[in-house]
Amino acid sequence: MPLYEYKCSACAKSFELLVRSSTVPQCPHCGSRQLEKLMSSFSQGSPALTSTFVPPGTRGHPDN
Ligand SMILES: [Zn+2]
Repeated sequence: MPLYEYKCSACAKSFELLVRSSTVPQCPHCGSRQLEKLMSSFSQGSPALTSTFVPPGTRGHPDN
């Protein structure tokens, strides 16, 4: 089952939900269905990877 992270538009809380295809996601805090789907959880913790990623050819000091 896919695990998605949502942010509630009503109470601004974020949470993770296991969502089946027939499931309408609902905020566990306030019950609202005005949810914003965020990136799935497997991509969490990887911003450091993107920020430290150096494309080939741009290593070293660009100023030199
Ligand atoms: Zn809510």
